[in-house]
Amino acid sequence: MPAGKEVGGGRRGGTTKRNAFCSFCRKSYRDVGPLVEGPGDVYICGECIELCQSILEQEQKRRGSGKKLFNEIPTPRDIVTQLDNYVIGQESAKKVLAVAVHNHYKRLSLEWEGSDIEIEKSNIMLIGPTGSGKTLLARTLARVLNVPFAIGDATTLTEAGYVGEDVENLLLKLLHAADFDLESAQRGVLYIDEIDKIGKTSQNVSITRDVSGEGVQQSLLKMLEGTVANVPPQGGRKHPEQQYIQMDTTNILFICGGTFVGVDDIVRKRLGRRTMGFGQSASDTRKESNLAELLPQVTSDDVLEYGLIPELVGRLPQVTSLTPLSEDGLVRVLTEPRNAITKQYQSLFEMEDSELAFTDDALQAIARRALNKGTGARGLRSIIEDVMLDIMYELPDQDKGARYTISDAVIEGREELFKMPKTKSA
Ligand code: ADP
Repeated sequence: MPAGKEVGGGRRGGTTKRNAFCSFCRKSYRDVGPLVEGPGDVYICGECIELCQSILEQEQKRRGSGKKLFNEIPTPRDIVTQLDNYVIGQESAKKVLAVAVHNHYKRLSLEWEGSDIEIEKSNIMLIGPTGSGKTLLARTLARVLNVPFAIGDATTLTEAGYVGEDVENLLLKLLHAADFDLESAQRGVLYIDEIDKIGKTSQNVSITRDVSGEGVQQSLLKMLEGTVANVPPQGGRKHPEQQYIQMDTTNILFICGGTFVGVDDIVRKRLGRRTMGFGQSASDTRKESNLAELLPQVTSDDVLEYGLIPELVGRLPQVTSLTPLSEDGLVRVLTEPRNAITKQYQSLFEMEDSELAFTDDALQAIARRALNKGTGARGLRSIIEDVMLDIMYELPDQDKGARYTISDAVIEGREELFKMPKTKSA
C-alpha cells in the first residue's frame, strides 16, 4: 500500500487523526482499530480491506469462469456436426445458428474480460413451414450448449387484463428450465414461436387475443434488446403479494420462429419473376419445390414487407430459413436422427426379444402420407403410431425371437404384420 499510511498505529498518531473514520463503512478508528490513510482524507479499516479483497477475488473468479466458458464453446463446425445428429437437412439454418451462437458466447466472454469493444447481440429469426425443424433446431442447440432452454408462443402473449400470458412468463419458463438458477437462466436460449403473428397486418390473430397490442410489442422488444424484467416467480398476476425476481435478458439468446405463409410470394415479386401462371393449379409438390427455392432467399426486407413491425425486425438481425422436407428428407427423419422414431420402435421390439425392420417402400409410404398432410415431419409420428398401435398391442403375445418386416402393404393396411410369414431372428 505505497500511498497509504496507517492511522493511529503510532507512527503518525495525533488527536485529529484518531478521530478519523473509515470512508467505506463510516465506523470510527475507536471501533475498528487502525485505519489506512489514502490521499485526501480517505481512510479504510481492516474489515473493509478484507471485504474488498474478497470482492476482488470473486470478480477474478468470475472473469476466470468467463474465460473457461469461452474455452468450452464449441466451434461453429462442432456445433453443426452435433446438430446433424438430430436435425436432417437445413444446412444453411444450422450454419447461421452455429455462427450466431458462437459469436454470442464470444460476446459474453469479452464482457467478462471488461473489453471496450462491445459485440452487439444477434438474436435470430427462423422462417420455415410447419414441421421443418425450427423448434427442434433451437432445442438441439440449447442441448449442445448445455444451457437452459424454453419455448414460448407469441400468440399467447397478451396485455395486462386479457386472458393469456405476460411476456415475463416466457422468462419464468426459462427460469424453471434452469431450476431457478438465475445466472444460468440469464445465459439460456428462449425460442418464441409464431412471431409472424405479431404485426400490423396480421390476419391470423384471434380477436380475443390482443397480440398486436402496443404493450405486448413494447415489452417483447425490450426483452429482445436486453432489459431487467420483473419476473413473477409463480407466474401471472394471481399472486399480487409475490416478490418479483429481477432477470436480466441481455445475454439470453432469443430465437424467434414463424411460418410466414405467403412470404415466398414477396420474394418472388422482389426477384422479378412472373407469378406462377400455370402454377396456380400446380400440385402440392410443385408448391413445395417453389418454397424450397424461394425461402432461402428471404431477407429482412421481405419480412418487413410481410408486415412484421420494423422495430421487431431490427432486433432480429439474423434471418434464416428452413425449407420444407422432401419425401427423401422425411424418410431420413424417420431413420437417421439419434432418436429416430423407427429406432424407438426397434428398441421396443428388442425388449420383446424380437427384431423389427422397415422396407424402403414402407418408409416412403409413411413419408408420402406425411407430405399429403402438409405438416412436414410433424405428421410422421402420428402416422407411424397409428400403424403401430395394433402391432404393439399384439406383440407381447407373439413368438419370441422372430424378425418382423413392415412393408408398404402393412402401412397401407393391405396386410397384417403378424399374419405374414416371419423369419427367425439371428
Ligand atoms: P416446426 O417448429 O418447424 O414447426 P418442429 O421442430 O416442431 O417443427 O418439428 C416437429 C417434429 O418433427 C420434431 O420434433 C422432429 O421429430 C421432426 N422434425 C421436423 N423437422 C426435422 C428435421 N429437419 N430433422 C429431423 N426431425 C425433424
